[in-house]
Amino acid sequence: MSSFVNPLDRHGSIDRPERAAIQLWTRQNLPLTDETAVSVSEFACVKPSCPNRQTVILVLCEDMSTQKMSIHKAMADVCEADVFDACLELLRNWPS
Ligand SMILES: [Zn+2]
Repeated sequence: MSSFVNPLDRHGSIDRPERAAIQLWTRQNLPLTDETAVSVSEFACVKPSCPNRQTVILVLCEDMSTQKMSIHKAMADVCEADVFDACLELLRNWPS
């Protein structure tokens, strides 16, 4: 048996490389500690102006309420600039 994992199998339970990248970019743009968890999920979106998918980034910090960013793109289409913009928006209301 081969342990080869088909990279095109997006329905598997293996972690997705784009998720790790989005988590990294989030950490680079926000003042987070190592204890802060960053959760990245992809959901359907019902807005007519939207390409049907949205990527939701949750920042789960012990010191404040959960912070949420929504990027209206499929997870695989999210780029560093999208995360940067979302983080900038979030930082405007960042609890100090
Ligand atoms: Zn949307």
